[in-house]
Amino acid sequence: MQTFDEQRIAHIKDLLEVKQKVVIVAHKSPDGDSIGSSVGLYHYLQKKGVEVTICHPDPAPYFLQWMNGTETILNAEEQRELTFQKIKEATILFCLDFNTLNRTGILEQALMEASATKIMIDHHLYPGHGFDYTFSEVASCSTAQLITDFIHAMGDDELLDENIGNALYCGIMTDSGSFRFPSVTSHTHIVIARLMEHGVKPHMIHEAVYDTNSFEKLQLWAFAIDQKTEVLEKHKTILITLSQNELEKYHYTKGDTEGLVNEGLSITGIKKSIFLMEQDGIIKISFRSKGEDNPVNTMASKYFQGGGHLNAAGGKWVGSMDAAIAKIKDVLPEFD
Ligand code: 5GP
Ligand code: MN
Repeated sequence: MQTFDEQRIAHIKDLLEVKQKVVIVAHKSPDGDSIGSSVGLYHYLQKKGVEVTICHPDPAPYFLQWMNGTETILNAEEQRELTFQKIKEATILFCLDFNTLNRTGILEQALMEASATKIMIDHHLYPGHGFDYTFSEVASCSTAQLITDFIHAMGDDELLDENIGNALYCGIMTDSGSFRFPSVTSHTHIVIARLMEHGVKPHMIHEAVYDTNSFEKLQLWAFAIDQKTEVLEKHKTILITLSQNELEKYHYTKGDTEGLVNEGLSITGIKKSIFLMEQDGIIKISFRSKGEDNPVNTMASKYFQGGGHLNAAGGKWVGSMDAAIAKIKDVLPEFD
């Protein structure tokens, strides 16, 4: 069935005809897709004359702050009261890039209690309950691609512009590994062409996201790869670990380790890469893999209180780094 079917799109159009207070939310620890889809939808709704605010659980990383519109994002970590007040007053809540409300961290309770009409647009497996409209397309490479599809289904392609397009392009680019993951289809490129026809310049977005490293970030990556990477040949797996002390030594700022886990997959023959990072007393874990026969979301959900996509998942370990590493080594044979 078509994700954005005529009947439900007609409902959304009717809803937006009336004066609404729209709030856009997305998952915690924002990435290029959650920020890109939020900001893209924000500019689009603003252009339609709708009152709209983006309310996120926590701030955007520095490499996404070039995007026009990120400066308007409220986040519950820094503007707690205002963020919760906006959610409470909202009449429509767009829930982007997450499948269950617990992915929004400290916003979860407020979202559960909110009286607004909840519209989910997402591409994660197993869409949860509690939404009035669920536009879920697991095969889509990104939520930003779905937002572009949504605007198209609304008949509003002519509203696309550089602000909307840059944000959506960024979401598609980052969630598709710069157009290299199996989730990229001919439709992805059609959507990109549509954005480019409305002023998006891809090279500028690639530069803005990927060429804004600090020297210390590169040194942190060099250290991690040189000193803190273990090759588990038998399981075709790479383990990368960083403790809080090590992160601090390189003056870690949020976003500095984004993408580090993918480096492991660039080694010939490696099928899984796992990155463990100590943060605020817990171990955050990122899983990446190659191929349909190498799911990592099952490992994340079964043993590490997480989940995600087949080849990109996340989770956590409450305990020491050594215990987390031991657990991973213990369960790896199950996923060979
Ligand atoms: P990352 O490694 O970039 O933090 O997360 C990769 C992907 O795994 C995310 O896009 C998200 O889909 C998923 N993910 C990360 N953490 C969690 C988690 O705690 N729970 C669930 N269900 N999915 C997660
Ligand atoms: Mn996404």
